Formats: sequence, structure tokens, C-alpha cells
Amino acid sequence: MYANHHTHTEYCDGKASAAAMAAEASRLGMKVLGFSSHAPLPFRTEWTMDWANLDAYAATVRSLAAEYAPKDMDVLLGLEIDYIDGLCGPADGRFASLGLDFSIGSVHHVRPPALGDDPLATVDGAQEGFDALIAQGYGGDALALAEDYYRAVGLCVKAGGFDILGHFDLVRKNNPAQSRFREDHRRYRDAAMEAAETLRGTGVIVEINTGGMARGKTRSPYPEQWILRELRAMDVPVCVNSDAHDTAHLSAFREAGVGTARAAGYRELTIVRRGRRETVPLDA
Ligand SMILES: [Zn+2]
Ligand SMILES: [Zn+2]
Repeated sequence: MYANHHTHTEYCDGKASAAAMAAEASRLGMKVLGFSSHAPLPFRTEWTMDWANLDAYAATVRSLAAEYAPKDMDVLLGLEIDYIDGLCGPADGRFASLGLDFSIGSVHHVRPPALGDDPLATVDGAQEGFDALIAQGYGGDALALAEDYYRAVGLCVKAGGFDILGHFDLVRKNNPAQSRFREDHRRYRDAAMEAAETLRGTGVIVEINTGGMARGKTRSPYPEQWILRELRAMDVPVCVNSDAHDTAHLSAFREAGVGTARAAGYRELTIVRRGRRETVPLDA
């Protein structure tokens, strides 16, 4: 069954309206479309929703849900909620009053002590910003940044409060051709594995995210194949999401996402429906 639970809109940094995304998803034959605009943070950013728009966002998605229910597409209200160490996370329950159908827990931020309280240290911004973060936040030790990132991912999982873990190894987005750190380095692998271990038995679904490929930043979906194999061995459920910010990316590299699940030994995907979960065969 064709489903996508990672969909941005004009309410955050998406380029298309929720209505345009839903129309395209329906045209593509999608059965479940989950909206997951970036939830507001305790500080303003260019890419997260404003607190003032939350209710309008929820009302828009709910009205699309009513519109598409007779057309055999479930439209779900969700949010991509940031975990920032010591500041906020999906477990806070700040969005409980919206009655979300699901949420994605994501780490975009690290908080190296060297940068004080600067909340804008994201790992997925422009390459120059990432390089400056390595230099200023971690004294030039890119592996220390990766370790810090995975530490935050592990803390996010342990704190809980969400259904789907976003882009597990986002930290390699700005690591073209492994130019900033080696992904086969023991320190990198140990850090990623430690984060992966926190998922065991939690029921959290790990998304296979093709958004980095669609934006030309990575050559494989998140998470990398070897991580996915470890997750498979731990019986961690997975889904395939496009992290689409525009209609053209809604189904981008979906075959690569499904293919990487298959290559890692998965035979089924786990889909969030309204109020329940469903496992579906990988090839259906
Ligand atoms: Zn994200
Ligand atoms: Zn996203």
C-alpha cells in the first residue's frame, strides 16, 4: 500500500499548499497521506511553523481529510517535532491539544557547549554552516559532531512521545563523498549503533527517508543500508517516506526506499492509520 507520512506544506518551509500536495498524492494513488509540517520551536526560525498558525494548519488538514475520505485516501494530521537536548522534544506534549494522528520525532539540532545557547546549530543547513559548526562547535573534529548528533537521537528515542523517527542519519547530509568524516570509522559506527540500540523494543517506526536523494544531497536513503540491517536484526519496524517539500517530490526515489528495505531483509512496512497501525507487504 502506498503511504507517505512525511509531507511539508507552505505552513512551514514547504513550497506547495496542503491542498496541492493532497491532490497530487491522490493522483499518484496514495492511500495514506500524513502531513508533518515542522512544529513550532521555542524560538523563531525560517523553516518551522508559527505558533499562531497551528490551529489553521490543523483545520486545513482536517478539511482535506473529509474531502479525500470518500476518494479512498486517508489524510492524517501530524507534525515533525524537534528534539533539542535540554530544550524541547516530542515527549513535552506541547501539541497534545491538536489531537494529532501521528508525529515524527526528529533531531536537526546539536548544542555543543562551545557555542553556548545558540539554538540555530542545525546539521542539515547549508554546507558552509555545517563546516562552521564542526570548526567552532567541535574544534574541527567532525566525528565529535556525529557522536553528539547520535547522542541526541538516542535521547530523543528514550524520551519518546512520537510514532516515527525521522531521518536517522541526517548528520551525513553534508558529508559528500565522506569528505568531512569517514562513515566506516569506528567512532561513527559506535555512535550510530548506540542510537540504534535505543530503538529496540520501543515500537517506534524508523522511516526510510528519500528526501536527501530528492534534493541531491545523498546517494542513498536515510538510514544507510548497514544501519537498516542492524535495525532489521532488532525487529525495528520501518516505513518509507519522501520528506516532500513540493508536489514533484512526493514520490521521488520511492523505489530506492523500498529497495533498500528489501535489501536489508525487511518484508513488510508498518503504516500508521488513524488510531491504529497496519503492516503491509513490501511489494504491495
Ligand atoms: Zn527533518
Ligand atoms: Zn521533514
